[in-house]
Amino acid sequence: MTSTATGARRGAGRPPQPHVEGALFVDLDGQRARYECLRPGCPHRLEGPVYSTDRRADGEPIGIGGLKGFIDGIKTQHLAQHHGSTR
Ligand SMILES: [Zn+2]
Repeated sequence: MTSTATGARRGAGRPPQPHVEGALFVDLDGQRARYECLRPGCPHRLEGPVYSTDRRADGEPIGIGGLKGFIDGIKTQHLAQHHGSTR
């Protein structure tokens, strides 16, 4: 008896991503975040990393809230600053 059950392998791999602009990475349980721009010709590929222990202008650590602010705003800020558009 021969059983050939090897034909059921799924076509693995990443799903297609038609319009990738950038990728946001959060590491160490949300203690660190960085934004990597994937647009061709980007003049400033990497934003951050930003740490929750980074100091604000007043000397206080930015904390998780500051990190979250970075995560929420960095894409818009990056696109506005380096690509002249917020889209
Ligand atoms: Zn960019």
